[in-house]
Amino acid sequence: MKWQEYQEAVGQLYDQMDGLGTVRKNITIPDRVTGQPRQVDVWWEIKLENHTFKILIDAKKRKGKIDVKDVEEIMMLAQSVNADKAIIVTNNEWTIPAEIRAKFDGLDLRILTIDEATDLVVEDKWLMCKICRKDCVVLDQSGFTTKNGLLNWWLGGKCRNCDSIYINCQDCGGKGIVNEETEYICNCPILWTSANGVLMILEYDPNNPQEYENPNQTKIDYDK
Ligand SMILES: [Zn+2]
Ligand SMILES: [Zn+2]
Repeated sequence: MKWQEYQEAVGQLYDQMDGLGTVRKNITIPDRVTGQPRQVDVWWEIKLENHTFKILIDAKKRKGKIDVKDVEEIMMLAQSVNADKAIIVTNNEWTIPAEIRAKFDGLDLRILTIDEATDLVVEDKWLMCKICRKDCVVLDQSGFTTKNGLLNWWLGGKCRNCDSIYINCQDCGGKGIVNEETEYICNCPILWTSANGVLMILEYDPNNPQEYENPNQTKIDYDK
C-alpha cells in the first residue's frame, strides 16, 4: 500500500468512526499526573449510557513490524491521558511479543490492520442467512458493551425471516449466530443470547461452564 493510499484509507476509517461518536485529530490533552499537554493524533469519544468512553488511536505506517516498544509507548500515552482503550492501526504486521504485551496490560489495547479497522465500521455488510437461507442479513447494527470495565465493541445483524442474530465481536474477532435455540460464546469470552429476537450480552464465566445439548450451540461460524 502506497503512502497516499494508506492516508486515504485511514481518513476514510476516521470518517466512519465519526458516525459512531466524535473523532478529534491532533489535539493535546493534559497529562493526568503532570498536567503537561500531551500530543494525541486521534481521539475518539463514544457516549455509552452515562459514561463517555475515550479511545486513543494511533495510525502507524511502517516498513517493519510493530514491536513491543511501539506498544509500550502507546500504552504510556493512553494511561497519561486517561484513555479507556487504545488502538494501533498499522499497514504492516506486528511481532508476537508486541501482541502479548498488548493483551497483558490492564489497558485495553488492540493492534489492527487497516482492513481489520475498516471492517469494524463498514456499513452494509450483507450475507445470506445460513439458518433459513431465505433472506439476506445486513450487519447494520453496532454497539458497545462493557466487560470487566473494558469496552467491547460488536457488529451485528438480524435475519428478518427467522430472527437469527449474527454477531461479529470486534474484540476477539469471533463470529457466531444466536437465536432461540442457539447461544454463542466468543473468545473474550462473552455469552451472546437472544430472547424473542432481542440480543442479550452476558459476561461468560469460564469457571462455571454450561452443558450444551447441541454441540453446535456454542459455535456456528459464518463467513464474511
Ligand atoms: Zn434466517
Ligand atoms: Zn469476543
